[in-house]
Amino acid sequence: MTPGYDQLVRALKSLPGLGFRSAERIALHLLVEKKEKLGQMVEHLQSAGSSIGPCKSCGNLSEGDECTICLDTDREAETVCVVERVPDLFAIERSSAYCGLYHVLQGKLSPLRGIGPDQLNFSTLKEKVVNGQTNELILALGNDLESEATCNYIQDEIVGNYQVKVSRIGFGLPSGGGVTFADEMTLKNALESRRSMDSN
Ligand SMILES: [Zn+2]
Repeated sequence: MTPGYDQLVRALKSLPGLGFRSAERIALHLLVEKKEKLGQMVEHLQSAGSSIGPCKSCGNLSEGDECTICLDTDREAETVCVVERVPDLFAIERSSAYCGLYHVLQGKLSPLRGIGPDQLNFSTLKEKVVNGQTNELILALGNDLESEATCNYIQDEIVGNYQVKVSRIGFGLPSGGGVTFADEMTLKNALESRRSMDSN
């Protein structure tokens, strides 16, 4: 094959969820079958890359300082659902079972992978707790050990003695898949049956 083609297939293959065959199919689709789509695709990628960044308040994708969810005055601003990543937020939005705000951690604590509190989006979460704008945190993390450790960190270090209700979903979610791959009904049930983490 030509170096340009090989390079394109390698670039596509480096994307999540794409193996060699899918990468090759997409490359041929854009170069041969639907070449007219290529320019449009490049344009969309460039425009999304330059206009979309993290929301300063919650970490969701945003085209301005704050995302459309944070700016939506119809949502319950005192309730914050904490998720690991943006696709988890999208999954919960699709379930239509939640109408508060979100906070995206951009990962979870993992000593083995060298991810400590400084690598995660904890500072703005702490601000929300400290300045009293939040009275409930719903922790929508997975049910693995790293998520467990992250939940405990939030309860102990972020909430501490502040008067904020902390509850956790994650029960009934598919193990390993977490929030992103749970179907809408499962998420709805998980949100409704969330359990308080407050120590008794
Ligand atoms: Zn936001």
